[in-house]
Order: sequence, then structure tokens, then C-alpha cells
Amino acid sequence: MELKLWNTMGREMQIFTPREKGKVGMYCCGPTVYDFAHVGNLRTYIFEDILRKTLAYAGYDVRHVMNVTDVGHLTDDADEGEDKMLKGAREKGKSVWEIAEFYTKAFFHDFGLLRCVTPTVICRATAHIQDMIDLISRIEKNGFTYVAGGNVYFDISKFPGYGKLALLDQQELKAGARIAVDEGKKNPRDFVLWFTKSKFEHQSMTWDSPWGRGYPGWHIECSAMSMKYLGEQFDIHCGGIDHPPVHHTNEIAQSEAATGKPWVTYWLHGEWLVMGKEKMAKSAGNFTTLSTLVEKGFDPLDYRYFCLGAHYRTQLAFTWEGLSAARAGRMGVVDKIAQLRAQSGHPPASPTGKALQYMADFETHAMDDLNMPRCLADLWTMLRDAEVPPADRLAAALRMDTIFDLGLSEAREAEVVPDEETRALLEQRELARKGRDFKKADEIRAMLLARGIEVQDSPGGPKLRIAAGQRRED
Ligand code: AMP
Ligand code: ZN
Repeated sequence: MELKLWNTMGREMQIFTPREKGKVGMYCCGPTVYDFAHVGNLRTYIFEDILRKTLAYAGYDVRHVMNVTDVGHLTDDADEGEDKMLKGAREKGKSVWEIAEFYTKAFFHDFGLLRCVTPTVICRATAHIQDMIDLISRIEKNGFTYVAGGNVYFDISKFPGYGKLALLDQQELKAGARIAVDEGKKNPRDFVLWFTKSKFEHQSMTWDSPWGRGYPGWHIECSAMSMKYLGEQFDIHCGGIDHPPVHHTNEIAQSEAATGKPWVTYWLHGEWLVMGKEKMAKSAGNFTTLSTLVEKGFDPLDYRYFCLGAHYRTQLAFTWEGLSAARAGRMGVVDKIAQLRAQSGHPPASPTGKALQYMADFETHAMDDLNMPRCLADLWTMLRDAEVPPADRLAAALRMDTIFDLGLSEAREAEVVPDEETRALLEQRELARKGRDFKKADEIRAMLLARGIEVQDSPGGPKLRIAAGQRRED
């Protein structure tokens, strides 16, 4: 199976060829654990999970490494501002270690609810300080650093090709066009590898180093940990679209300055989740978390389905209407799967006949730079095709779901998880029924239907389903 991926390095579609046959080393920049992840952050991790599952579908054995940033990430990616962890700790009245532990757990909880597969290696920055010190020493030995004002800087003028990933303007880089905020820097784009002095003296996380007691710059952790767990050269590096100009540019400079070898072959970046016209961001305050979605009655997988509806390289606008439509879509698939299961008994091990053509279309689209919107369309067309025997449709859908991962193999029936208002209406309806006020009970049933929810009374109590009118045609 030939997999095509859009490589940010060189800005072109390329056929994926791993360094080692059948194996893939993949590094994903992980969360900074100073607060809850918002659904924008989570969109990036869903894209990376789809990538991982597509690679597995294509037959690769994937080694997936993700870091957890629990030190050194300043509020501005380019060395300015305060440490995000410190700021978070101060605002929440906790120690940095406490908030790191709390938000790491919260992050992986959301990650699991979205059915993202746990990375092969999860590495915390604070557990790898010695690896970072060793790497900085190598970069220093190779002549790419200078010390100023107590901090160790990377000297970008010594690294030919700096900024290649982000197509940074070479003339501008030489001129150092931006006014340097940090007086220690020779060029404003130089960046800190190790801080012993910062504007924020209350830094509580510090370690001894050859340059004095201090803490690492943000970028060095990804170079140190990715190479530790994947080797000095590996296949894929991913992250959000904010990373090419600063973070990933600096990671490349550090890693290649240390080893003298080309570092990563394929660079993939996920586009923003936006709210209105703005990127969803904690700093802008326009963010929503997965638990808010759940409180409003959505299943985390509704959000996964919502993300599958847009290609990872296009912006996706978050709206509640869009999320409701995704919920109806996902429920429609789940319903259909339940029907097919009832019709077909046990699915055959693999699809046959016309279902194979649908599988081929699906594979073409998945292997075409993870075109999930087209893949979803393939799934729907197949599910609706009455010419394909139910057992084949079921088998093909379950095989497709190894990439979508909407939990279809466990799906039974599209039940609704009621939100608070729905619960209140249901209670009122039960009271009315008990009081034999059937007129009122029916009125409430109609109110629920207007909200897109169908009530079915059963011996075990009322069951909720997405109303037929809200389901996608099948
Ligand atoms: P952070 O925890 O702030 O380091 O961000 C974690 C990841 O989420 C990074 O790869 C960011 O690029 C990504 N990210 C942040 N905001 C958004 C957004 N609105 N949409 C998609 N990805 C985002
Ligand atoms: Zn990184």
C-alpha cells in the first residue's frame, strides 16, 4: 500500500518510505501540562492518532513517542514571557509539581475518551534533564553556542539552512530584523538552550549543569527525548501548525548541530480548530474543553467524528450546530452497524464482492494524505448500498473503523446520553406518567422530539435515541 503524505519540509506531497522496512519512528510534540487541554489541542492529537492508525493499516509497526512538557515552556515560544507552568501554579495556588501531575492525568483521560492510542513512549521533560544537558554539551562542543548573561544560546548564524522548514527569509534572518527583547542575543532568532538567569527569579524547578544551576529552554527537550527513544534519525515528526517557524525550526537546528546528520524525513502539521475567525486558544479565552462537551450531553466520540469531517490540513470551525450534526452522523453510523449486525449474525473475517471495491476506494483516500472526509463518505455510501450483503457491509465497516476508531465493533445501539435539561424533562414526564397525566407526558415527549430526541418506554425505564428525522438518511 502506497501512502502519500504532505511534507511541510519542501511543501510537497511525497510517497512515504520509512528508514527501516516495515517500521516507523514517529514523534509528536505533546501537551504543556499547566491547564486542561482544550478541544483545539485535542484536534491535533486526533490527527496524529489517525496518522498512527493509517500507518498501522498500511502494515507498519509504529513506535510513537510523545513528550509531556512540565518545565521550560514560556508563554511566548521564542524565549519571551513567563514559564507557563509557573504561571499556572501561581494562578491555581499549587506547586508546579502538583499541577504537572494533575493536568497530565487529565490530559491522558481526555486522550483515552477520544480513543487515541496511548503512545509507545510517553516522556516527561523533567525526567530527562541529564539527556538535555548531554545534548547541549554536544552542540557546544561542535561550536554552535555562546554564553551571554548567564544563559547558553544557540547561534543560528553557525547553522546553514536555519529556517528551511518554515521558509524563513534568509536576508531577514541575517539582518536580525526584529528588535531583540533579550539583550544577550546576537541575533533575535538565537534561542536559549539553558537558562541560569531569567527575568523570573522565582523559578522553582532548577537543576545543576556545567553552565550553572538553572533549567532548559523549551525546544531542547524534544530533540533530546526524540533521539533518545527513536535514534538520531527517524521518520516522522508532528505537531500543530504553530510549530514550523519557531519550535520545529529550532529543534532541527539543535539536533543536526549535535549529530551532523539530517534528522527527520517527514514533517506533518495539523491546522487550527478555530472559533469564529480566531484560533481556539487558552490565552485568548475562547476555548472549550472535552468535559464541557460531555456536560452538554455529547459523547467524546461525537467530537472525534466532527474532526474526521475536515482534512487535517484545513482549518475547522467549532460550532455547537456542527457538533450536533456530527453527533447525528455518528449515531447514524452506530445505528446502521447495529442493524447490520442484527441482519448478518457473525460477520465474515474479511469483506468480499462489491464491498471490496468500497474498501479499495477507502484505502485510496486514506493513503492520500489521510483524507478522512472522503473516507467517511466512502463508509456512508457503502452502508447505504443494499446490493452489498449485510455481513459484507458490516465486515468492511469494521475494517474501516480500525482507522476512524469510532468504537464500531462495540457499538450496539445509538443511545443518547441525556444532558441536564433533558434529564429534567424526563423526570417531569415520568412524574406525569405515574400520575396518569398522559396528555402532559405526551407534550413532554413532543418537547424532547423537538430537541431531536426520541423516547422509547421499556421495562427498564425510558430509552433515548436520536430522533429518526435527525438521523442521516440510510
Ligand atoms: P500546548 O499544550 O499549548 O503546547 O499545545 C499542544 C498542541 O496543541 C500543540 O501541538 C499545538 O500546536 C496544538 N494546538 C494549540 N491550539 C490549537 C488549535 N486551536 N487547533 C489545533 N491545534 C492546536
Ligand atoms: Zn516539540
